[in-house]
Amino acid sequence: MAASLIDGKVIAADLRARVAVEVARMKRDHGLTPGLAVVLIGNDPASEVYVRNKHKQTQAAGMASFEHMLPADVAQADVLALIAELNANPAVHGILVQLPLPKGLDTEAVIAAIDPAKDVDGLHPHNAGRLAGGLPALSPCTPLGCIILTKSVHASLEGMDAIVIGRSNLVGRPLVQLLLNENATVTIAHSRSRDLPDLCRRADLVYAAVGRAEMVRGDWLKPGATVIDVGITRVPAAEGKTRLIGDVAFNEAMQVAGAVTPVPGGVGQMTVACLLVNTLRAACAIRGLPAPGV
Ligand code: NAP
Repeated sequence: MAASLIDGKVIAADLRARVAVEVARMKRDHGLTPGLAVVLIGNDPASEVYVRNKHKQTQAAGMASFEHMLPADVAQADVLALIAELNANPAVHGILVQLPLPKGLDTEAVIAAIDPAKDVDGLHPHNAGRLAGGLPALSPCTPLGCIILTKSVHASLEGMDAIVIGRSNLVGRPLVQLLLNENATVTIAHSRSRDLPDLCRRADLVYAAVGRAEMVRGDWLKPGATVIDVGITRVPAAEGKTRLIGDVAFNEAMQVAGAVTPVPGGVGQMTVACLLVNTLRAACAIRGLPAPGV
């Protein structure tokens, strides 16, 4: 039987709508407009598209959106000065520096300069450490989106066997921590893992975050598994265009799995929606208000 499709578009739209309701309530009851500042350095075309999208969706949710565009050859000191300014700006509750940074800039130092309370990307060592310690933290948006998508299929992940393929700071590692918080049993796989197909076949929940098109085949999957495809690879398509392909061989997975996210239209949709959630959470925490119910 064919797997069901996990529709990231619909789930993200629902989440954004719930964020917008909470933002309206914050404005009405507390005079608080959550604000997100996005810093884009250089002119990487993919990053420009992401930033435009974030700006549009932030405004659509009723939040304030601040964009800062810096040239690729900007000095590290100027980037740090901008971050210090945003840290001090009371209208800004979330700061996101679009990665990757151009060569010559120290990514770790830039992330470390962000006030952890405004670190809506969840990449500051303070938040990463809290997450690893099982403490409340601002967590990276893509892994948060993966958990929400999984929970659209399974109300509880307790005791389920999960595999996370990929161990980056952006996706794999925080996803592992979030799964542990959900009481799943987690295997972490990476480029040195042995017998990856075999490890995968044991999992009820498969998360592929590698960046290798269609690496995970249908016969790697346990029948009925839930498959969350984080990977994005851009490949040439007809008429000089390009298209996006995930880490999972989608048609094969649909024959074996229980539920699968498509690429595009799956995890990618959730990342920005979760960024809005994090900005709302940060704004409430900074103002000393209870966490919002989204
Ligand atoms: P990354 O930093 O390049 O990490 C890739 C991970 O995959 C590494 O841990 C690497 O292992 C592992 N890996 C590489 N080859 C492998 C193999 N043959 N078998 C098993 N594991 C292997 O990438 P990332 O930033 O985590 O992103 C992963 C993918 O997700 C990319 O396609 C990216 O575009 C996509 N992404 C999507 C979103 C979204 O919103 N949808 C957001 C972020 C990222 P080692 O650690 O051993 O090198």
